[in-house]
Amino acid sequence: MKCPFCGNLETQVVETRISEDADFIRRRRQCGACDKRFTTYERPDVNFPTIVKKDGRRIEFDRSKLRGSMNLALRKRPVSTEQVDSAIERIEEKLLNLGLREVQSQRIGELVMRELKKLDKVAYVRFASVYRNFEDIDEFKTLVDQVRG
Ligand SMILES: [Zn+2]
Repeated sequence: MKCPFCGNLETQVVETRISEDADFIRRRRQCGACDKRFTTYERPDVNFPTIVKKDGRRIEFDRSKLRGSMNLALRKRPVSTEQVDSAIERIEEKLLNLGLREVQSQRIGELVMRELKKLDKVAYVRFASVYRNFEDIDEFKTLVDQVRG
């Protein structure tokens, strides 16, 4: 299994876990060269659902994009890379467990918000404010009050 960070071929399995409904196996691997960890999913036909954007365009699920938008929301916040990794894994697992061929991008947005809410309230508000595209300031204020409470 090739390391996605440095391309090294020598990686070790550090943890193996079967998903709740036993649909696929998740393996946590560690690269022998750069020591970074990454996750792989194994199932004969394991595929992330295609993402359907608001305008109807269909795109492939892209973990690095997901990470990018989460990192943007978490910028300068006290949240570790490991915590972000775990959050991404939970999101991916939920997506796989849906067992659908297509999902609305909105659904992923909601999964991300749920994880950010647990990780960091500021990041949650940042993400939600962009994601929900607030039409008026009252709506935004309500959300901020909600997370403060
Ligand atoms: Zn590596």
